[in-house]
Amino acid sequence: MSRVLIVGSEGQIGSQLSKELSKEIDFDNLFLSDICDESKSDLKYFRLDALSYDDLKKNILDNDISEVYHLAAILSAKGEKDPMLTWNLNMNSLFNILNLAKEKIIKKVFWPSSIAVFGDHSSKNNTPQFTDKEPITVYGISKLAGENWCKYYNERYGTDVRSLRFPGVISYNTLPGGGTTDYANDIFHSFKSGKNYNCYLKENTILPMIYIDDAINGIVKLMESPKDNLRIKSSYNISGFSTSPKMIAEELKNINKEFKVEYKSDFRQIIADSWPNSIKDKYAREDWDWKENFDLKKTVKEMISKLNIR
Ligand code: NAD
Repeated sequence: MSRVLIVGSEGQIGSQLSKELSKEIDFDNLFLSDICDESKSDLKYFRLDALSYDDLKKNILDNDISEVYHLAAILSAKGEKDPMLTWNLNMNSLFNILNLAKEKIIKKVFWPSSIAVFGDHSSKNNTPQFTDKEPITVYGISKLAGENWCKYYNERYGTDVRSLRFPGVISYNTLPGGGTTDYANDIFHSFKSGKNYNCYLKENTILPMIYIDDAINGIVKLMESPKDNLRIKSSYNISGFSTSPKMIAEELKNINKEFKVEYKSDFRQIIADSWPNSIKDKYAREDWDWKENFDLKKTVKEMISKLNIR
């Protein structure tokens, strides 16, 4: 039985991943950690700065951890406010984990990348696994460098580091922490509170998205797969569906025709315009049977129900 640590457990993905893993892993074998003083969950938790190699190593050895889900990062839009801080956290926390894997202190790692690795010269539609990548944000630069380092450690040192290139994640439990696709979460909260929504992207900006249950299912499936089946040593393309602010707004207007969205784009539009409209995730489908369960309509239905919107 693996003993598992989530680093960055209190964020959008971590808070749902911990719930899912706790269904399969005994209470005593699952550990959560984040930079916050307390966890929102009732699972075992300690405060841990992912930038401290010594603290990470001590906690991992003390608790006999064999598997780490490393989720701590600064995301695309927030990252642009302080590029050096973003580079430091995103890269050096990853190096800490990679080096613990290289030293065989950790046996298996999950680390998420992002569609932010793509840029203006990547193919726009059905963007394949291998294409030009010139990211325009410090976040995208750090994720692309991180992917290459994962590949390097896997091939050079035989580590078992697995990764998914997530599109925008839509979830009900925790608001996202400063990404370019956050609108696809925020809009539901405005809808719930009966307010109009001011969208920072243009109405027809199409981006790839994934519903949280699919994102978590993807992580679990990838981590359960036999290592030998995994041809991609950097990070797998993965996607749920593609949508625009207008398409989500239309779905919500079908529920309440009074709901209004105003569009005034800001700096996040430039980031969104550099990203793909849709993703081709053929390697994930072939290597570990990836298949999404949620399209836009099902996601909206689920968000409405989970957020208790009447
Ligand atoms: P989030 O911002 O919601 O959560 C990140 C967590 O990391 C936060 O709880 C934060 O407190 C914690 N953290 C920050 N600095 C830390 C430190 N020094 N030590 C320990 N913890 C620290 O982000 P998220 O949306 O849950 O994303 C998780 C991962 O998935 C990130 O690597 C992100 O790049 C990736 N990802 C997310 C999305 C998305 O749409 N949410 C899309 C693509 C990739």
